[in-house]
Amino acid sequence: MSWWARRSARTRLAIVLIAAQATVVVCLAVIIAFAQARIVYSQLDQQLDDDIENAEQLLERAPEGGLRWRAGQRADGHAEPEADRSIEVFGADGNLLYRSRTALAVDLGSPPSVPEHMRNGPASRAFPGDGHLRVLSGGCAVNGLPVVIRAARSDKLVRDQLALLGGSITAALVAMVLMATLTGYAIAGRALAPLAKMAERAKTITAEKLSERLPVENPRDELGRLAIVMNEAFARLERSFEQMRRFTADASHELRTPLTAIRTVGEVALREGVDAAASREVIGSMLEETDRLARLVDSLLTLSRADAGRVKLNPEPTDLAELAREVVGHLGVLAEEKRQTIAVESQGPVPVLVDRLVLRQAVINVVDNAIKYGPEAGPIRVVVESKPQGAVLAVVDRGPGIAVEHRARVFDRFYRVDASRSREDGGAGLGLAIARWAVEANGGCLELESKPGEGSTFRIVLPRRPPA
Ligand code: ADP
Repeated sequence: MSWWARRSARTRLAIVLIAAQATVVVCLAVIIAFAQARIVYSQLDQQLDDDIENAEQLLERAPEGGLRWRAGQRADGHAEPEADRSIEVFGADGNLLYRSRTALAVDLGSPPSVPEHMRNGPASRAFPGDGHLRVLSGGCAVNGLPVVIRAARSDKLVRDQLALLGGSITAALVAMVLMATLTGYAIAGRALAPLAKMAERAKTITAEKLSERLPVENPRDELGRLAIVMNEAFARLERSFEQMRRFTADASHELRTPLTAIRTVGEVALREGVDAAASREVIGSMLEETDRLARLVDSLLTLSRADAGRVKLNPEPTDLAELAREVVGHLGVLAEEKRQTIAVESQGPVPVLVDRLVLRQAVINVVDNAIKYGPEAGPIRVVVESKPQGAVLAVVDRGPGIAVEHRARVFDRFYRVDASRSREDGGAGLGLAIARWAVEANGGCLELESKPGEGSTFRIVLPRRPPA
């Protein structure tokens, strides 16, 4: 793991903040220093330009040859330049015609030839002894004689000014970085504080305390949104745990009922002693309960395998109308026992691509319910048709119907509208839960339409199989 990755989020955030602030400050300092240097050097260069112009006007040709300052220009009789500057004048062929007394003891060599009215430079020149000069040459004419005047001034003052500015900027920079370090670390700490609180709270959330939620300090910032999303995840987890707990409790209860019945029947028979005919009856009722138990265990197994995602679907081209006829043929005996008429209505094959066995279970459960809850001698219709929304298998009965408040819940596990009646019919409230899973696993949906007192229609809607 890199050094960076090993640092805490707070340190990393603080480093980024400090680096960003320092970069901005350094850039600003560099810009200010350059701007200031430009200003002071252009002032110095202007002064050198003035020096050249003055010299051009105040020098004249001496009768004995060479150049001299015009007399009477200054009170002391010397129109010589002041001590901090020097003037040199060169002829067209580069020979020195004049050098001021104040000229610094440095040989700057011959100047470049510069056309009249033009300037060359300016340039900074260093000379031994830590000295620095600013030099400017200009092409001029003294009494018609073309010359090159070279003016030089020490730029010590300018350098001192810039050094002072540089020192101040560096000191300010160090102070700012120090401040940025302190504030950056504090800001990073503050920004991440809700995260630490969330972590503390998250530690207390266990399977037993899933109702706890993370604190949401500001729902509009990133950490607030993270807390909201995590709270939603905890809510889902809580619901799943609750469903699981309820499922386990309901399943245990449902398993107990037939077991208790078997035990009671057995105990009574043992205690009271029974003749051959009565013992047949006892054994018959025990087998009936065992059957119920086996069906229940089968249903529970189907659901738990479905929950674990362990049911591997094997889709195959299937005719929904034929599947309906097969199921009706299989359950016809039960309908006959109640003198019900049960018929499949279809206009022809309705092709679907489904796992036949899994879907068959759904159709069986829905048709079985229509028989169980439909009235004696009532009609049951199984209508299979191809509709724009898909392949539809509707089971229509004339039973008691299902009131609005129960409609969504009848698909829940172990939910029964009338528990005692349903149990009499052998139902544990798992049939529709399994049917819904089986239909949805095949890409469809199971809908319910019902008018209390008139009957119910359970509709399995599946994607139609595209023509080959
Ligand atoms: P069960 O095994 O108890 O029938 P289901 O999950 O199949 O469980 O059904 C749940 C409940 O929905 C039933 O207990 C019953 O009250 C109601 N129900 C299901 N189908 C019908 C129907 N066709 N007509 C009226 N009520 C029904």
